[in-house]
Amino acid sequence: PGGLYIVSTPIGNLRDITIRALQTLAAADIIACEDTRTTRVLLRHYGLSGQLIAYHEHNAAEQRPRILEALDTGRSLALVSDAGTPLISDPGYRLVADVTAAGHLVVPIPGASAILAGLVAAALPTDAFFFAGFLPTRTVGRKKRIAALAAIPGTLVFYESPHRTAETLADLAETLGPERPATMARELTKTFETHRRGTLGSLAAELADEPDPKGEIVIMVGPPEAGVAEPGDVDALLLRLLADHPVKEA
Ligand code: SAM
Repeated sequence: PGGLYIVSTPIGNLRDITIRALQTLAAADIIACEDTRTTRVLLRHYGLSGQLIAYHEHNAAEQRPRILEALDTGRSLALVSDAGTPLISDPGYRLVADVTAAGHLVVPIPGASAILAGLVAAALPTDAFFFAGFLPTRTVGRKKRIAALAAIPGTLVFYESPHRTAETLADLAETLGPERPATMARELTKTFETHRRGTLGSLAAELADEPDPKGEIVIMVGPPEAGVAEPGDVDALLLRLLADHPVKEA
């Protein structure tokens, strides 16, 4: 049926795509993508072709009315980004807002995203986490943003470009304190995937000697407290508290 399909594509390993995503791409009348060359490589890998149009930061305002027109005529459109889930530090939010406002169907086709891939292997609490995206590039703005995130009671997840990673880890260690547990995931799902687990202080020190790591990076920082209780721990804690402070019958 007509509508906008938000299709997740791989974040490295080309096999990380769902059957439904491939079926949706095959059936779409139009595929809107950030970079037609990148998407063509993926389609060719799976023996697919399709009518591609570019939808990126620089042409989004012109493309949105055209996409709405196509949807008005009952066509189906798949939105993909260069990697992972569209709208996640990638274009698409305004499009989804406009398409829903115009009364058209928006259907997510879930799949890979570096947030969850990094988080589940980080050995940091996963019961609550905050995706902070990319930090501002200027030092003052970056430190201000980090300070605003300091008290969030969950794991913080940041995207970062490799050449800023050393600086960002140093700023995180300075603003949040060097003791906070942290993990740096690099090249997730690719041949040289690594997960460095430590503290903000230890990772900042390692990166100071290696200021320009190659590849794509997710930085994750544990919550302010030493750890977040597992549900089982909460029961045990309550029992202990009750034993120490018996409830008096009235
Ligand atoms: N939409 C994508 C997603 O769902 O993950 C994110 C796009 S954003 C423009 C690119 C950033 O995502 C990179 O700078 C990096 O921080 C992170 N990223 C993407 N792929 C990655 C990978 N394979 N390994 C580690 N980080 C990755």
